[in-house]
Amino acid sequence: MEKLQSLRGMVDLLPASIGLWQHVEATARDHFRRARIAEIRTPLLEVTELFARGIGEATDVVGKEMYTFLDRGERSCTLRPEGTASVVRAAIQHGLLSQGPQRLWYGGPMFRYERPQAGRQRQFHQIGVELLGFPDARSDVEAIAIAWDLLADLGVGGLALELNTLGAPEDRIRYRTELLAWLEAHRQQLDPDSQARIQTNPLRVLDSKHPGTQELLAGAPALADALSGESHERFTQVRQGLEALGIPFTLNPRLVRGLDYYSHTAFEITSDQLGAQATVCGGGRYDGLVQQLGGAATPAIGWALGMERLVLLLQQSEAQPWMAAAAPQVYLVNRGDRAEAVALQLCRDLRRTGIAVELDASGAAFGKQLRRADRQGAAWAVVIGDEEAVAGEALLKDLRRCEAPGVEAETVADRTSPGRRLALVEIPAQLAHLLAC
Ligand code: ATP
Ligand code: MG
Repeated sequence: MEKLQSLRGMVDLLPASIGLWQHVEATARDHFRRARIAEIRTPLLEVTELFARGIGEATDVVGKEMYTFLDRGERSCTLRPEGTASVVRAAIQHGLLSQGPQRLWYGGPMFRYERPQAGRQRQFHQIGVELLGFPDARSDVEAIAIAWDLLADLGVGGLALELNTLGAPEDRIRYRTELLAWLEAHRQQLDPDSQARIQTNPLRVLDSKHPGTQELLAGAPALADALSGESHERFTQVRQGLEALGIPFTLNPRLVRGLDYYSHTAFEITSDQLGAQATVCGGGRYDGLVQQLGGAATPAIGWALGMERLVLLLQQSEAQPWMAAAAPQVYLVNRGDRAEAVALQLCRDLRRTGIAVELDASGAAFGKQLRRADRQGAAWAVVIGDEEAVAGEALLKDLRRCEAPGVEAETVADRTSPGRRLALVEIPAQLAHLLAC
């Protein structure tokens, strides 16, 4: 029979990498707990109109990348391509915003029909934060600091923060007219993608990755020149806030989000170790979105980070603390009919005590089982043969290695010694005590 394969761009996460994923998720959860940000979980499937209105028809995401289909009731549904629109919909639908400002985070799979490559998939995962009901420049700084500190705490190297302001909607309306005229005058020199965007979404042309277009755009009118005094002042506050926290950044006037409900701060965190897909985290202020989706005018700022790219970065790093979590604390070596029955019961008692136990079920020779225990990185081995089973005892063997350079493992644990003989009933409490030390 022909073997079935996963769909293109849909990736299995196998046990070997799950430790790292869980480490990232647990670290993020802990940062959000300390920052008083509450989790929200929304459905993966939404009415298509939510994204058409919440992201915008003129974007690549809505225009080309969505998984959209009719369900059995002929409703147009879409697998979520991002999290913000759903979070805002849920906040409006459940009246959360009438209870005051909301500090929310979400995580999980997103779906975009893109060309798969390293760091770009069709099902990928994001973790994101949305601060709803926060108008102040300080909230921009806080949101950025939360992302920055999380990435730094995870040990991601080569990070850079790029910052821009899109100004207020009125600034952009003024600028759009100016830019449109300039783009039309240079239409023939632009790449085809950018030409197509001139009328639908001129600001997005600034974001073009085409080298020729990039070069040409150096001569385009700058958004910074179209900012009102107030918008300038706000951007200065954000920059000063970041400086005061010691978070380094560079200004990137090309960093844009083309839609009307985005305003003021836009930012990206990139890494020089990711190749073409350099952006790990992107975010900004979207003061117009809540209203656009039918809620009361609510200023907001948020960001989303891409888990796959983050995991790629962490896999390159030297220290891998998440590997330790994958090792068993105790390896249960057992051989013989009586011993196997006793081992199964002891294994259950140890797990009840909270200890991670690997039960060897091979029936192989003791030496072979012990070598396996060592390879798996177990801290302790419990050895039971029929003789021990009859006596109601087991041997406890210390397998911990010494990480200090130049120190022989044997000085910490004598691997040749038979181990300590203990009564079976004492073992769970003994091991719990030893592991806590
Ligand atoms: P890009 O320019 O790389 O396509 P984007 O602007 O579409 O990114 P956002 O919508 O801002 O990305 O999403 C935030 C983050 O989610 C990105 O910075 C990236 O880390 C991650 N991301 C986006 N699309 C994908 C994808 N197809 N596969 C993996 N990660 C992705
Ligand atoms: Mg994209």
